[in-house]
Amino acid sequence: MVIGAGPVGLAAAAHLTERGLDFVVLEAGEQAGASVSQWGHVRVFSPYRYNIDAAARRLLEADGWSAPDPDWLPTGAELIDDYLAPLAKLFGDKVRLGAKVSVISRLGYDRVRTAGRDDAPFLIRLADGTELTARAIIDASGTYTSPNVLGASGLPAHGEHEVVVDHALPDVLGADRDRYEGKRVLVVGAGHSAATTLLALTELDDTPITWAIRAGDAARTYGGGEADALPARGALGTRLRAHVASGRIQLLTGFFTHRVHATGQGVEVVSRDPSGREQSVTVDRIVSATGYRPDHSIASELRLDLDPVLGSTRALAPLIDPNQHSCGTVPAHGVDELAHPEPGYYAVGVKSYGRAPTFLMATGYEQVRSVVAALAGDWEAARDVQLDLPETGVCSSNLAEAQEQRVGLATGISGGLLSAPLPLATVSAGDGGCCG
Ligand SMILES: Cc1cc2nc3c(=O)[nH]c(=O)nc-3n(C[C@H](O)[C@H](O)[C@H](O)COP(=O)(O)OP(=O)(O)OC[C@H]3O[C@@H](n4cnc5c(N)ncnc54)[C@H](O)[C@@H]3O)c2cc1C
Repeated sequence: MVIGAGPVGLAAAAHLTERGLDFVVLEAGEQAGASVSQWGHVRVFSPYRYNIDAAARRLLEADGWSAPDPDWLPTGAELIDDYLAPLAKLFGDKVRLGAKVSVISRLGYDRVRTAGRDDAPFLIRLADGTELTARAIIDASGTYTSPNVLGASGLPAHGEHEVVVDHALPDVLGADRDRYEGKRVLVVGAGHSAATTLLALTELDDTPITWAIRAGDAARTYGGGEADALPARGALGTRLRAHVASGRIQLLTGFFTHRVHATGQGVEVVSRDPSGREQSVTVDRIVSATGYRPDHSIASELRLDLDPVLGSTRALAPLIDPNQHSCGTVPAHGVDELAHPEPGYYAVGVKSYGRAPTFLMATGYEQVRSVVAALAGDWEAARDVQLDLPETGVCSSNLAEAQEQRVGLATGISGGLLSAPLPLATVSAGDGGCCG
């Protein structure tokens, strides 16, 4: 059973098909790539050559599909139209849409019971109460539907759930324009998503913009300007810095979101820093660009061994640590790094990375190739993990900006602006993940 028809879940389906293993893909949304469709207006950094799984390519080409230009950086919408939707179509009714998994267990076994456990099939319960069984679970349900909270300590800010808080990366210059134009907007977060949204907002008239970050300054978001080893980051940072300097964007530093509440004048967002000092801003809309976290609740009856920091498996954590790795320097990994004490359950794709923002589709494709090989009993192939991700270019946003000036920089990737080899540097823990 595969959970999620995103890029990695569908790649798993392609490998299962090639291996002749029966499968079903359960997708909560009403289309393949349902989460990708939420950021359909954003152009990715990595060109198509890295975004198409090898097994998927073979199946699609056998069906008469022509691969898109390998150097093209697609938007999320293009990724769906040109790749994910045709791929899902190949699998017919093996991809079940509107099938949201609410919980997984072992048939007849709660988490405590051991004897005979490994032989019991998995029990999958859907949101509508339907129950299914499977011999293995490939959980590719992503993290997009579980964003981090606004609250600075990782807990929801007081009142956060009582006001409307917008998900990161609204389509400010497209479908969502009316929601922002002429409104006072607060963007919270120091990563590329925040920067993308801020720059888009500056193009709207009569739209006062406030940007709140925990750090004492925005140096990390700005990058090194013209001297930046990463030209695209430098250019983005220079534009952002200029808007802050001109007053177009009001930057609030040392902002630790503590309380949010509606007043007659709008929504008041109150920061309380660790010393107890408060500052506040009143706005009409809040965009939370604070990153994502995995939701392991669907697997809470399974025996998971999670890294206490990232929420990935323990074996994977040191390989993806955003303090040490950018998206282009994560080493290849597969079934051994993804295994939990619960045999047959594998979280793959962006979910496997937990809170690390270093995920690339290409690494997810190698993960599922390895996991499916193991499920087929081909341990030699499963352990022969390989990843061809040159540091240079794979995450570059230079082309993305040139291809479509309207959209900014995608999110979700640490070091996602790599356009030249970058020496590893220690990232300050100051303002959370780099790509919130
Ligand atoms: C704006 C943005 C830009 C990015 N740019 C790049 C890039 O340039 N290059 C790159 O390699 N990576 C990029 N990434 C990172 C990553 O590759 C993508 O997030 C990718 O979509 C992850 O694929 P996935 O299949 O693991 O998860 P997702 O695409 O998130 O798919 C998960 C699927 O599971 C479904 N689902 C969730 N919960 C359930 C449930 N309970 N039951 C059933 N189904 C469920 C969802 O509806 C969704 O369809 C980007 C990410 C973002 C957000």
